Amino acid sequence: MNIEKEVARTIAKYGLLKKSEKVVVALSGGKDSTSVIYILKKMGYDVYGLLIDLKLGKWSKIHNEKMIAFCGGNDIPLTIVDLKKELGQGICFIKAVLKKQKNLTGCTVCGIIKRWILNKWAKKLGADKIVTGHNLDDEAQNVLMNFLKGNVLLGVNSSPATGGKPVRGFAQRIKPMFFIPENDIRAYAKKKKFDILYDKCPCSFETYRADTRDWLDNISDEEKLAIVENFQKLVPKLRKGDEKELVTCEKCGEPASSKLCNYCKIVCNI
Ligand code: AMP
Ligand code: ZN
Repeated sequence: MNIEKEVARTIAKYGLLKKSEKVVVALSGGKDSTSVIYILKKMGYDVYGLLIDLKLGKWSKIHNEKMIAFCGGNDIPLTIVDLKKELGQGICFIKAVLKKQKNLTGCTVCGIIKRWILNKWAKKLGADKIVTGHNLDDEAQNVLMNFLKGNVLLGVNSSPATGGKPVRGFAQRIKPMFFIPENDIRAYAKKKKFDILYDKCPCSFETYRADTRDWLDNISDEEKLAIVENFQKLVPKLRKGDEKELVTCEKCGEPASSKLCNYCKIVCNI
């Protein structure tokens, strides 16, 4: 697959970006977000990198160094947010407390915290859109995990343009690589010789997701695409039955679907 063309196709089909917009790309330092920022820059978008330093020892230090070099070499401004300065604690401490207090585990916690920091900083940077590097494999995993958990509605906001329509005051999160298989992105990053780490996050021990990923390893990219595309066909119908306007969180002012945002709900007693 020509992933540059596929990114352009998804942007055009879903009206994801305009050349006049300020685009903040959430950079993890991995192959997906590095590839997407490189492609968007090449296409002429006004891109900025935003990396949350999760303070995961050597792993984070290497990611930071490599992203500073990558962005410097590609003329992309980069902001690094220090998680400890933001939250007063490292991610491991927060995860350990939440596991004990609320039996919340793994990547769910990390996802909620990252989203909250990204929204806050995107606003600070004056971003119109936040881009993430989510790919077809991530999306197929989400569809299946939500289905197996019996909560298909959890996926109603998942689309190349998160939430469907932009909400005033918030930078919309978009996923230009929504339909691109992980294998194709890895091949692209290697072909371009991006000097990055290909290892998984040392903190990702969410067994349910790992099991779903292993299971999906046995099916083809075409079948993964069918899972994601067929679910996308259901999204407008599912949204009709579950329309929640986004509001601002009473505590922190970030986007929320009820009085408190997910971040404030989980971290209020830490
Ligand atoms: P993950 O949940 O780790 O698979 O990451 C999904 C997407 O979230 C990545 O492609 C990035 O766009 C974004 N992301 C993950 N980790 C970070 C981070 N530490 N800083 C900024 N963005 C991140
Ligand atoms: Zn909040």
